[in-house]
Amino acid sequence: MVSYGCGNGCGADMEYIGDGDWKCPTCGKVIAFGEPDEEDDDNGEALSVWDAADIYLSRGFDEDYRFGYTHEELMKALGK
Ligand SMILES: [Zn+2]
Repeated sequence: MVSYGCGNGCGADMEYIGDGDWKCPTCGKVIAFGEPDEEDDDNGEALSVWDAADIYLSRGFDEDYRFGYTHEELMKALGK
């Protein structure tokens, strides 16, 4: 059986409370083991058209920096 520590040095096994969350019975700390790690998530997947337009502009309208948007959409976001 796998046991998890809460990180506070309680020495108690975490209790599963559902939805991927584990709770320490001693200090009550909840750790969501089921949550995706969002560190280093800079693939630009959720980049807004405005952010994309700023980058597109700063790159001198390089088509490699359109982030899935069209030139027209990016120009519109820039107010041009
Ligand atoms: Zn604890």
